[in-house]
Amino acid sequence: MERQRQRDTKPELALRSELWRRGLRYRVDTGILGRCRRADIVFTRSRVAVFVDGCFWHGCGDHGSLPKSNREWWGMKLAANVARDAAANDDLSRAGWLVIRVWEHESVTSAADAIEAAVRSRSSRSDPGNV
Ligand SMILES: [Zn+2]
Repeated sequence: MERQRQRDTKPELALRSELWRRGLRYRVDTGILGRCRRADIVFTRSRVAVFVDGCFWHGCGDHGSLPKSNREWWGMKLAANVARDAAANDDLSRAGWLVIRVWEHESVTSAADAIEAAVRSRSSRSDPGNV
């Protein structure tokens, strides 16, 4: 398996196309802070970093559950993922980024609403769609 994060997952694609439809322009799976951090959807100018988190890999409180075999290993592995997410949040917000994490189970519309509001309010340009 290629790391934990898969590119172009279905929830991510749905969210991207909704954002695009609303006239927002972004970069996909881009490294930020000198490549040491990356995000799924990146609004460079307004400094908004969006992550679409899978319920299993990121320990969703509603849908995250440990596989029956190798529970101990999985427990450590998933706890490490959650810790890494928290560290990424810290690094990015210290650098002036707004981090938005969307669970894969969230509705595309409400996620897009939150992202659109954040991007538009943080955009210093007259054309908010311009990253
Ligand atoms: Zn979930």
